[in-house]
Amino acid sequence: MRPIQMVDTKTQYHKIKTEVDAAVLDVMESTAFINGPAVKAFTSQLAEYMQAKHTIPCANGTDALQIALMALGLQPGDEVITPSFTYIATTEVIALLKLKPVFVEVDPDTFCMDSASLEKAITPKTKAIIPVHLYGHAADMESIMTIAEKHGLFVIEDNAQAIGCTYQFANGQKKKTGTIGHIGTTSFYPSKNLGAFGDGGAIFTADDSLAAKIKMIANHGQSQQYYHDVVGCNSRLDAMQAAILSVKLKHLDAYNEARRKAAAYYDAAFAGQQKIKIPFRADNTNHVFHQYTIQLTGVNRDGLKNYLAEHKIPSMIYYPVPGHRQKMFAQFDTQSVSLPVTDELTEKVISLPIHSEMDEEQLAFICSKVLSYINQKEN
Ligand SMILES: *Cc1c(COP(=O)(O)O)cnc(C)c1O
Repeated sequence: MRPIQMVDTKTQYHKIKTEVDAAVLDVMESTAFINGPAVKAFTSQLAEYMQAKHTIPCANGTDALQIALMALGLQPGDEVITPSFTYIATTEVIALLKLKPVFVEVDPDTFCMDSASLEKAITPKTKAIIPVHLYGHAADMESIMTIAEKHGLFVIEDNAQAIGCTYQFANGQKKKTGTIGHIGTTSFYPSKNLGAFGDGGAIFTADDSLAAKIKMIANHGQSQQYYHDVVGCNSRLDAMQAAILSVKLKHLDAYNEARRKAAAYYDAAFAGQQKIKIPFRADNTNHVFHQYTIQLTGVNRDGLKNYLAEHKIPSMIYYPVPGHRQKMFAQFDTQSVSLPVTDELTEKVISLPIHSEMDEEQLAFICSKVLSYINQKEN
């Protein structure tokens, strides 16, 4: 059996190696390392794939979030509502910009922002909402956009874990996640569903004036070379990464389909197990399984993790400490917020290996080990 990894970027690379290598060599030969044709080409391919009016590439997914927030022209102390149960990048940028993160609850099925909790957290200082499509499942965007509109708030979707996911509204209209809010952001970190061979990110918007601001901010605040209108930053997608991403974008739907197939295998193996809650899928979206995350009841999670590790099966806890309990946010007194669902998920979740290259032999082995551990008497 091939070794089991959380994500197998090497096998994935080897299947497209000729094309990827040629694309990188082309950039080297062209010496157009900064912006240039490779970045332009990928940007327009990505815009076409996402059906996004404006696509602005940048250096990574954290910068994408930071630049998106900077473009909204908020004032220090303005409140930004976000789930506590997410990767730190989502929430760190809020505090970095001297804004106030306000943590809300997630839905225990989808792991994404809970609309009722969102609505309760709105105050006169609230200016923006950052929902996260966690693990590859779309947040409840219909409710979130309705609430945002009612209160005049901006929505920035953190789509770092869900590129390729489609969301259908009640009226039948379909959109890619990342193109529903006023701004969407994504990451091309190597382990993401569309992963570069290094860092990368992108920002999406349908708003012409926000797009102009975002472009300016990502490029030292300049609208014209050497004329700097606003304080910005230097956040570019590397040309070699863009060339690699152009090759990989063509395979993204197939990669996501392979992830769904692996998820279906796990689901079938765990069906009927009382101690395992398999990932939920809302019927108006197609989960892209950035992670396959189960919830355990009556199982010693560390015990399972160690048992799997003894059999050379990696697993991860995403995330062991929720945002509202991170020391970096102590100044906002976030610990006093009551988020019982988030706290409970933090204790119960475990993510099993999932990626585009898993085979049945690996899946069968993982499932048999998970089941043999959870069905031991002492559990
Ligand atoms: C990966 C990730 C980011 C940050 O992306 P980087 O490219 O690593 O900066 C932001 N939000 C979420 C939810 C992520 O998973």
